[in-house]
Amino acid sequence: MLTNRESTDGDDGPKQFLVTCEGCSFEHAVDGRERATVIGTDHRRETHHEVVAFEVPPSLGSS
Ligand SMILES: [Zn+2]
Repeated sequence: MLTNRESTDGDDGPKQFLVTCEGCSFEHAVDGRERATVIGTDHRRETHHEVVAFEVPPSLGSS
């Protein structure tokens, strides 16, 4: 399970997601899962491509 609530208390706003398409080179980074879903659904509706949204982990090494 990927639960990282030790170092970060979730105060850094919505998570960032990278929406990519398996059918073309479509790629879009957004904040929040809802926006990723909206963009992914929008692209899939227009192109009928398979769209995948990855959760982008917060950049480490900032301590
Ligand atoms: Zn596409």
